[in-house]
Amino acid sequence: MKLHILGCGDAFGNGGRNQSGYLVEAEDRLFLLDCGPTSLLAMKRAGFDPRRLDVIFLSHLHGDHFGGLPFFFISYLYENPRDQPLSIAGPPGTSKRVNELYGLMYGGDLPPIRFHILQPDKSEIIAGIHILPFRVPHQLHAISLGLKISYQGKQILFSGDSAWTDLFISHARDVDLFLCECSFYDQGSANHLSYKTLQDNRSRLQCKKLVLTHLGEEMLLRREELEVACAEDGMVIEL
Ligand SMILES: [Zn+2]
Ligand SMILES: [Zn+2]
Repeated sequence: MKLHILGCGDAFGNGGRNQSGYLVEAEDRLFLLDCGPTSLLAMKRAGFDPRRLDVIFLSHLHGDHFGGLPFFFISYLYENPRDQPLSIAGPPGTSKRVNELYGLMYGGDLPPIRFHILQPDKSEIIAGIHILPFRVPHQLHAISLGLKISYQGKQILFSGDSAWTDLFISHARDVDLFLCECSFYDQGSANHLSYKTLQDNRSRLQCKKLVLTHLGEEMLLRREELEVACAEDGMVIEL
């Protein structure tokens, strides 16, 4: 299984990096974790036909994480029709927000889509992929999710956008990859993680591999000093 980093930037385009999007390529499945505005172009740049996507999993409904969906929709409607409906799985409110976004950007009917609502701590199997969503501290009222994915004996933990939570300790145990947001270096934040906080907890994270993503300006400026691997757009991680 491979994970292709389509976008590891923050919401502000820092470092000229694409916004959130991670493509998981398994033997018989292709699925996305998050779908930022740049995801379709990055997927094409990586050489993948967007029709091959089985599922898009959304961590939360901020623009840099789901704002790329309308471009996939118009691609399916006007250029590359799919044989099967696309599955989109996200937190409560996903169907409404996605419809509103498409209505504002293009209008008209969506291509055939199966929406799956992910409830915190309720595991699901979607397109044969096991997913355990859990609530993370990022948004005040709406639900932001961390996602733990299991498929064909491999496990990926994705933090979504989140401040530190001890839930990462239990969910990261033995996973092949923990893809963890790290927006800041030492700036305190109630809704994003800093490198300093992560390092304070590093020994408690028993994942096989840790890669930092959603990198803000402060992180990019201090890249040389970091003792943890950072994602790059176009990077491919073998699991
Ligand atoms: Zn974000
Ligand atoms: Zn966010």
